[in-house]
Amino acid sequence: MYIPKRYGQSRIDKCPFCEKTAVTKNKQGIPVCAVHKDSELKDIKCACGSWLDVREGKFGPYFFCINCGNISFKKAMEFR
Ligand SMILES: [Zn+2]
Ligand SMILES: [Zn+2]
Repeated sequence: MYIPKRYGQSRIDKCPFCEKTAVTKNKQGIPVCAVHKDSELKDIKCACGSWLDVREGKFGPYFFCINCGNISFKKAMEFR
């Protein structure tokens, strides 16, 4: 049986607060573990020094920088 591969769906299944497996989502639509369900990601700075906005896209949350444009969730996590 042929199973089509899916592209363009980046899975985020780690809680950004503690690196545990995400089981739910917080208010911002970011996958988090049960403990951090009510935690919100904020005050994340871009590499250029601007604050990042959290946005929810078709394939999950991402960040937006007024200077650099859209920034992937994964990349923003590396900025922290
Ligand atoms: Zn957590
Ligand atoms: Zn930037």
